[in-house]
Amino acid sequence: MTHSRALPMASHLPDVDKKTLRRQLRALRRSLSKTQQQKASFLIGRKLNALGRVGRNIAAYLACDGEIALPRTFIRTHTIFLPCLHPNKQFGLGFRLIGKTRLSHLQIPEPARGKPYLAWQLDMILLPLVGFDQQGHRLGMGGGFYDRALADLARRPKRPLLIGLAHDCQECPIIPQDPWDYPLDGIMTPHHTFWRRPITNKHPL
Ligand code: ADP
Ligand code: MG
Repeated sequence: MTHSRALPMASHLPDVDKKTLRRQLRALRRSLSKTQQQKASFLIGRKLNALGRVGRNIAAYLACDGEIALPRTFIRTHTIFLPCLHPNKQFGLGFRLIGKTRLSHLQIPEPARGKPYLAWQLDMILLPLVGFDQQGHRLGMGGGFYDRALADLARRPKRPLLIGLAHDCQECPIIPQDPWDYPLDGIMTPHHTFWRRPITNKHPL
């Protein structure tokens, strides 16, 4: 491990439930300074550029609550979709082309207009997360929205590459898993990349 000493770490956290983990990890990521956030954003942008072209349509997110932010240059140079609450609750999230935003009823900014695409119609989804482990398990904010959006991928003709973006301090030895939790293909932090194996043969890479 090559975590910077200046950054807090979550890896010392004992085996705890999702709710407790969320509270501790959210406090950790919020404790990062503006300079640490900017550096993290720069490094994640560089790693995403090095990944090369995965496809045309990429879902990203507007960072809040200390989440790692995508650099503006990345947003400007790609076709970016943002998550929105899907009108059909079964799907959790839809993804609309980036544009003028409005606040959802959860008080999260989302594109106001446009057709909501489903997860399988995208080439890559960059997911925010509260915590992760090296096996690609993701802890979200507790709404299960991404789990619902990804739940039907196995029944679709294709599926997107799923990459969670996180600060290094959001790593945990084990993220507790429920049957509905959908694992990610990879996790990228400023200093590490973890790929889950085996990657399915329907995978775009
Ligand atoms: P998060 O993924 O945001 O960390 P959880 O995994 O704890 O949150 O899920 C939160 C809630 O979302 C769960 O209590 C579960 O009932 C619901 N949920 C998650 N995935 C699905 C799904 N595919 N279908 C229906 N409900 C789901
Ligand atoms: Mg979950």
